[in-house]
Order: sequence, then C-alpha cells, then structure tokens
Amino acid sequence: MGRIIAIANQKGGVGKTTTSINLSSCLAEAGKKILAIDLDPQGNTTSGLGVDKDDLENTVYELMLDECTIRESIHKTEIENLTLIPSNVNLSGAEIELLGINDKEYILKNAVDYIRDDYDFIIIDCPPSLNMLTVNAMTTADTVLVPIQCEYYALEGISQLIHTIDLVQERLNPDLKMEGVVFTMYDSRTNLSNEVVDNVKNNLHTTIYKTIIPRNVRLAEAPSHGLPINLYDSRSAGAESYRLLAKEVIDREDI
Ligand code: ADP
Ligand code: MG
Repeated sequence: MGRIIAIANQKGGVGKTTTSINLSSCLAEAGKKILAIDLDPQGNTTSGLGVDKDDLENTVYELMLDECTIRESIHKTEIENLTLIPSNVNLSGAEIELLGINDKEYILKNAVDYIRDDYDFIIIDCPPSLNMLTVNAMTTADTVLVPIQCEYYALEGISQLIHTIDLVQERLNPDLKMEGVVFTMYDSRTNLSNEVVDNVKNNLHTTIYKTIIPRNVRLAEAPSHGLPINLYDSRSAGAESYRLLAKEVIDREDI
C-alpha cells in the first residue's frame, strides 16, 4: 500500500516546498505513481510543478469546502506519473470558512481515502504554520517529514512541531508516525552546517535521512521555469540529492 507523507515545519523558508516538488518528481522519475497535494495558499508547489495557479476551477480549496469531488480536484502535470491537487490564494480563507463544520480535522482525509489506493506516494506540502490545514495534512498522512534548514536557529520551533505531531497522534490519528528529518540548504564550507547536523542528531530521536540536500542555486532557479530540478538540470547537485532522497524514501522498510 502507498504512503502518505506530510512535509511540515511551521518555519517558513526551510525547504518544505522545494522538497515537496522535487521529492515528488524524483519519486515519479523512479516509476512511482505520485499525487502531490499543495496545502499552502502561496501555491508554490503548484506553480513549481508547472501549473498556472491563477487559472484553476477546482483546487484544494473547492475540495475542502465540498464544492468539487477529489477526482475533479486532481490535475495532470507535464510530468509523467505525477498529478497534483493545486492551491492558490483562495485557500487562505479556508481556516475561517471551516469554522463550525463537523469533523473539520478530517476533511482532507475523508476525501483522500477515496483515491489513496491509486498512488504509490501522496506528498502533502504544508503551510508555514500549525493551523487547521496542517492538522488536516497530519490526519491524512501516514508520516511527517520535517525539513530542517542548516542554520543557527534550526531547532527553534521544532519542539512545538513535535508537540503538535504528538497531539494529533493522541487525539486524531493514532497511526501517524515520523518519517524523519531531512537537512536542507547544507553548505559544507561552513562549520555551522556541521554543528546544526550534530545538534539535531543529539536532540531529536527520530530517523535522520542520510541524504543531505546541499545549497544549490539550480534548486532556487527551477521554480521560475515551472520545472522540478530533475527536469530543469538533471545533472545538478540538487537533482542528484533529491534522487538519492527519493531512493531512501522508497527503500524505507521500517515504516
Ligand atoms: P518553505 O516551503 O519551507 O517556505 P521553500 O522550499 O520555499 O521553503 O524554500 C525557501 C527558499 O529557499 C526558496 O526561494 C527556495 O528556492 C530556496 N531553496 C530551498 N532549498 C534550497 C536549496 N537546497 N538550495 C538553494 N536554495 C534553496
Ligand atoms: Mg512552502
């Protein structure tokens, strides 16, 4: 059976979206059937996968407000094996519109249950906050993957994130597990990156992916071309690292 992975960290700019786009695309390149779900109103996973976020009838917003079916919300991309439930700025109002709705923590899960068997992996890009959208991602997911940027304040906020995951596990989704941590934007030239990696290893008792994503300018350029890294610059260090991460994710047997 497939695995649903929520990519979460309430800190912005740590590489959630970059990881969502490129892990999805590299898993698809490895022959896996992938659905990416963009749960961030910024819609950067949507545009980064080449879908025009301002020209969409059915997005994750319409899905969550029960204005379309999940099959109607799934869009093709130009990438083989990779489909997308897109998002755009409309989603920023969803939090309020969901107030008072029964079981609002399970809206996404109840929809995804219809189609989960069609995919090998479903990758959910979370917004940079611990809000109802993130809770929906965590009730839908089997695991949470936490990107951590290799910088001085890397661990700031991580204890709230772990607490949120624990609460969701206790109250809403007892089967939720940690997928693990992936380090992003690593710069081998600085001692700081090495210190952050050591610090996280000593403080977080969870799986740490061996693949460390380097800081690579091609990763930052690719979204403006609407392409994932393996299609934008297949030989770049960024592409190689996300391919290795995809392989590690596929090879995990302990989940
Ligand atoms: P988040 O989704 O957590 O807010 P993003 O994935 O959008 O973070 O990344 C924040 C910024 O950093 C973006 O401009 C992105 O292109 C850039 N970026 C992310 N990962 C890397 C990397 N490994 N190397 C270089 N730039 C990166
Ligand atoms: Mg993002």
